[in-house]
Amino acid sequence: MTSAFVRRGGQLHADQLSLAEIAAVYGTPCYVYSRTAIESAWQELDTALAPHPHQICYAVKANSNLAVLDLMARMGSGFDVVSGGELARVIAAGGDPARVVFSGVAKTDKELEQALTVGVGCINLESVSEIGRLERIASDLGVTAPVALRVNPDVDPRTHPYISTGLKENKFGVDIATATEIYARIASSPQLSPKGIDCHIGSQLTDLEPLVDAISRVLALVDQLRADGIDLDHIDIGGGLGIRYQDEQPPSFDEYAQQILTLFNGRKEAIVVEPGRSMVGNAGVLVTQVIGLKPGVEKNFALVDAAMNDLLRPALYNAWHDIEPVSTDSPPATMAWDIVGPVCETGDFLGQERQLALQEGDLLAVMSCGAYGFTMASNYNSRPRPAEVMVAGDAHYLIRKRETVEQLFELECGLPG
Ligand SMILES: *Cc1c(COP(=O)(O)O)cnc(C)c1O
Repeated sequence: MTSAFVRRGGQLHADQLSLAEIAAVYGTPCYVYSRTAIESAWQELDTALAPHPHQICYAVKANSNLAVLDLMARMGSGFDVVSGGELARVIAAGGDPARVVFSGVAKTDKELEQALTVGVGCINLESVSEIGRLERIASDLGVTAPVALRVNPDVDPRTHPYISTGLKENKFGVDIATATEIYARIASSPQLSPKGIDCHIGSQLTDLEPLVDAISRVLALVDQLRADGIDLDHIDIGGGLGIRYQDEQPPSFDEYAQQILTLFNGRKEAIVVEPGRSMVGNAGVLVTQVIGLKPGVEKNFALVDAAMNDLLRPALYNAWHDIEPVSTDSPPATMAWDIVGPVCETGDFLGQERQLALQEGDLLAVMSCGAYGFTMASNYNSRPRPAEVMVAGDAHYLIRKRETVEQLFELECGLPG
């Protein structure tokens, strides 16, 4: 994927527009996404998987702005949702419910009812308890529920422990050893129709071997099920493909697809993939302004107007994001800076020990923020969430207004009397 964010004449651009210009129009902090980058990532993966019947179900939690979902829907994408809220967003954005897979370890009765009412393509079951509840709800509605079972193949994805999901000790899915028994139960239910099988082993995978291992185990199980008389239409291998944040060497879409196609060679089941990060991660940046500089004996702090409430990943996972000056017109001498926000937490940093030439008022771009950026933002410290802007060539659109302080307490009431 070619980067949408390139420097021309000392100025960092998003497509044809300088980020300085965007910041002048919309203020900071502000998320900026490239439509071209999102479309090219989706198309690249879709083309790479083209030799086999497949469906991309974009993982909405990575970036759930309606404009992003609208873009995906226009390209023919399906969606992976993990809540009733995400399902409502997909429908509001014009997504096709028949191309939605509904994942989630603790779906409520209300969410299951919503999924059946709008007609999602598949409900990915994650526990035996959920099966009984879904049967009752489907029976009340007089429908048959299309389902897949999320199995936990017990492989170590070799990623951050907080984003590993396919180990025995993780809360997701059911132990693969118990799956044939559970499928027999599903197949015998008049309210349930077994459509597929599902696994998702973790996120930010930079090595394909754990994924190949997991898929191999799932395929062996699918063959066993067929021998038992249970035929499945699709095999959902989840998401998880990593991106480059710093110096990682994640597989390309082609390398990823080649491995999958090899495993599916000669099989009739469709491939379903649920990519999130790899679709949008490197298609977005967070633009922030330096409020002040605080050089010290031990550390030099650059105080910026974005914080952990706007971008949680550094505080949550100690994640690395490249931080680049928006303008490199007249660089003074560089020194090592910790880029920190105004929030009252020591964990509130966007980057540490970054060699930068900084002055008060400078704009910085925090790179690779298109995935798990805005969607993880909060209002901690009563900070309104940033604006979101989409750039397409030389056009720019506001796709989410900056929140106002009044909106933050609009739902609260004083005490009576
Ligand atoms: C988070 C998640 C994804 C997307 O993961 P990425 O690493 O962003 O590709 C896909 N499927 C499920 C079930 C998830 O929870």
